Amino acid sequence: MQSIDTYDFKGKKAIIRVDFNVPLNENFEVTDDTRIRAAVPTIKKVLEGGGSAILMSHLGRPKKNPDPKFSLKHIIPTVEKDLGMAIEFANDCMGDEAKEKAENLKPGQVLLLENLRFYAEEEGKPRGLAEDANDDEKAAAKKLIKESQKEFTKRLASYADCYINDAFGTAHRAHASTALIAEYFPNDKMFGYIMEGEIKAIDKVLESPSRPFTAIIGGSKVSSKITIIENLLNRVDNLIIGGGMTYTFVAANGGKIGSSLCEPDQFDIAHTIVKKAEELGVKIYLAQDSVCADAFSETANTQVCSSNQIPDGWMGLDAGPETVKSFVEVIENSKTILWNGPVGVFEMDKFATGSKAVAEAIAKATANGAFSLVGGGDSVACINKFGLSKQVSYVSTGGGALLEYMEGKVLPGVAAIRK
Ligand code: AMP
Repeated sequence: MQSIDTYDFKGKKAIIRVDFNVPLNENFEVTDDTRIRAAVPTIKKVLEGGGSAILMSHLGRPKKNPDPKFSLKHIIPTVEKDLGMAIEFANDCMGDEAKEKAENLKPGQVLLLENLRFYAEEEGKPRGLAEDANDDEKAAAKKLIKESQKEFTKRLASYADCYINDAFGTAHRAHASTALIAEYFPNDKMFGYIMEGEIKAIDKVLESPSRPFTAIIGGSKVSSKITIIENLLNRVDNLIIGGGMTYTFVAANGGKIGSSLCEPDQFDIAHTIVKKAEELGVKIYLAQDSVCADAFSETANTQVCSSNQIPDGWMGLDAGPETVKSFVEVIENSKTILWNGPVGVFEMDKFATGSKAVAEAIAKATANGAFSLVGGGDSVACINKFGLSKQVSYVSTGGGALLEYMEGKVLPGVAAIRK
């Protein structure tokens, strides 16, 4: 496998899958350029090595070609500002213009291609199928798009001498630009710095954690976190289960949870998790007490209750003070920490105390030498809300890709480079 640090880019054209799926306002101005700034080191590495860069990305979910609302031309000024140089733009990632501009690209230059998802071939999913299409029609459309996807991918590959994937956020998708294209560069494919950082951080946590290793899995539902929990049980020493999930576990054991979030169809799974944890010697921490409210509202009345004695009409919306104390103690004594999901409704200040204490404990443990990874779902918003993102070891930008990685799935975008 090639590495971006050692690859010789001199005179080479690198096609880079970046994640420039950035938010735009009603005037089509970029409102948050974090993702563009994050890609700069990879692009600069290619240029400084004597190569040129062809950038490809998706933006939003266009359903037709072209769809001006989702044009990547809107982001040109921001890309130019962040890179500190003028760039070329091709108005269609497939057209003659793209081919010519790629051909004529000189070392040190950057070409941005128009939104890949203007073509259904990028995702390989048929578009425009009648709603009442039968199974045969669906299968035929699928076959057709898979065939034209090959041509689409080959064409993109023809623009360049090497391929870099730096879009971790789409690494869990087997799309043309995120996975299939790698086939055309058997000896000239590599991860960019964002991908490399994400993979290193998560592998460090999942494959070679210093112990004790504590995972904090919060959020709303057991059903959305179950595969992650199952995958983590074999690896962690301590598992903190927080947030709305708590009450499914409590109710499964016959506790009174009032009108707290509950998924009765997950009771069996909750029992299985607890049993498996016992067998593996993993300590599970659940909220013993909760901050309960009489409405899902910032202005609700609140009281602290035992998590298995919540009165009717009240719901647990945050970890209670005793729970916070025990969570903090476990976290502060850990050497590896993985945090996914808030332990309360952190969006409302009234119910953010538990999540804030968790964030602070992770920051403290990190200052004392622990490795901490925060990511997936709302965890990033949560750590940002408390201004602590710089005080943890790694904040993943991966979202869905990180969740799938944590579930133990092979990410097509990662596998395509490693293969
Ligand atoms: P997830 O996307 O599954 O990580 O869930 C995050 C969401 O879970 C956040 O919006 C939190 O407000 C919500 N959440 C956390 N704790 C609770 C709770 N006790 N009851 C209801 N929702 C919660």
